[in-house]
Amino acid sequence: MSQETQAVDVLVIGTGASGMATAVTAAAQGLQVLVVDKQPQFGGTTARSGGWLWIPGTHLAKEQGIEEPPGAAKAYLKHEATTHYDERRVDAFLENGPKAIEFFTSQTPLRFDLPPVFPDYHAEAPGGLPGGRSMVTRPYDGRELGPRIKLLAPPLPELTVFGMMLGSGPEIRHFMRVFKSPTSFWYVTKRLTRHFFDVLIHGRGMTLTNGNALAGRLAKAAMDRDIPVWLSSPVKQLLVEGGAVTGALVEREGRPVRVVARRGVVLAAGGFPYDVERRQQLFPHAPTGREHFSPSPSTNTGDGLRLAEAVGGRVDGTIPHAAAWVPASVTTRPDGSAGVMPHFIDRAKPGVIAVNPEGRRFTNEGNSYHDFVQAMVKTCEGRPEVFAWLLCDHKALRSYGLGCVAPAPLPIGRHLRNGYLKSGASLAELATQLGIAPATLEQTVAEFNRHAAK
Ligand SMILES: Cc1cc2nc3c(=O)[nH]c(=O)nc-3n(C[C@H](O)[C@H](O)[C@H](O)COP(=O)(O)OP(=O)(O)OC[C@H]3O[C@@H](n4cnc5c(N)ncnc54)[C@H](O)[C@@H]3O)c2cc1C
Repeated sequence: MSQETQAVDVLVIGTGASGMATAVTAAAQGLQVLVVDKQPQFGGTTARSGGWLWIPGTHLAKEQGIEEPPGAAKAYLKHEATTHYDERRVDAFLENGPKAIEFFTSQTPLRFDLPPVFPDYHAEAPGGLPGGRSMVTRPYDGRELGPRIKLLAPPLPELTVFGMMLGSGPEIRHFMRVFKSPTSFWYVTKRLTRHFFDVLIHGRGMTLTNGNALAGRLAKAAMDRDIPVWLSSPVKQLLVEGGAVTGALVEREGRPVRVVARRGVVLAAGGFPYDVERRQQLFPHAPTGREHFSPSPSTNTGDGLRLAEAVGGRVDGTIPHAAAWVPASVTTRPDGSAGVMPHFIDRAKPGVIAVNPEGRRFTNEGNSYHDFVQAMVKTCEGRPEVFAWLLCDHKALRSYGLGCVAPAPLPIGRHLRNGYLKSGASLAELATQLGIAPATLEQTVAEFNRHAAK
């Protein structure tokens, strides 16, 4: 059988932020680009993400009068990267990051909002700052994508309310204050009405926020440059000639297509949260490879790493943390499937504390999610399972929600019935339900309250 062949300058594997950003940049340089993705929708993990970027020294910060202290960002990255600090790579990032933001915000539909206060995860570390480096993708009107909006991967259901992903900061504040402020009530009413109207007409919400806005805006940038994107087209193998990668074998609509890439193949096929074997190899604290749950798409099976290894690439197994950890709870969705809820910010709400399986606090609940999980792993050393409880009273739960549980007036009955929430009329009753000695939990809470009162 003759095999179809397609020739391009650059073949990009993956439609997440890295793939689409690469494709748009290459096209802007006049190169002929093809993007392929194994999924029937584009956006990858990116479409489920928070859509936040961390880039020091951008024009967005400067416009707000935030100047990078000389050398601070480099010192910060050196401190954070410890034994794996790579000066050349860090310099390249610091030099090109602001240029990338300049390019994307002036030449494509990408837009970002940089709140003046959004601290670095270790703002107190050398070179850390209380704000000016983190920016979030600005919400985007899905109508801009025309009929292709149907091809955009949806947000993570656990991070939505009625299928609607809330934007950041001010929007969440309106939802929290819906019954406390007429302005917020009006805002929420308008937002919900528009959302339900969109779902009725388009089958999904059209106000894209966070990572969904990032994936949507990048897709529009690719559309504007007529970049072809083949969906449901997994790359099966890289082609090698004379010691160099010259293209890839792509399966398109069930047929193999040889894609010859004159200038290069870019592996942007995402991470490996659903590659059990790789997890076993790279996470020393998780020997079975099944200890972690990931909110990313289950098709994230680390193909990129395997494709590279098959042609002589090597995965660096010495990185202390080969993944970004976030505490997550597992819930049962109304359709019976399992959902993984990342606890990014709810841990730090007033009235919420985290306790280990013995009922003792083990970390500052407001620490970054990556630090929180490290503390959780440490406090559970020697136990068969790593876990913690997030604890709050009814008032805190109804004010802010917790995990999958939305704040009032949304009901909590389903979460109580399926065991996602455990409740007790007293601390002792709750402790008994959690397998914790009541006296220990009472002592932990009393101590926390004593300090909180101060
Ligand atoms: C809930 C959540 C929130 C997050 N929030 C943030 C945040 O705010 N800021 C931040 O910096 N990071 C965040 N992250 C992490 C971030 O989303 C990812 O690191 C990032 O999206 C990865 O982008 P990517 O382009 O490398 O991969 P992906 O977005 O995963 O895209 C990879 C694509 O490659 C495709 N692919 C895989 N194998 C093949 C193959 N063989 N052939 C063809 N295609 C293939 C996949 O289908 C996928 O579409 C978050 C992650 C999650 C889960």
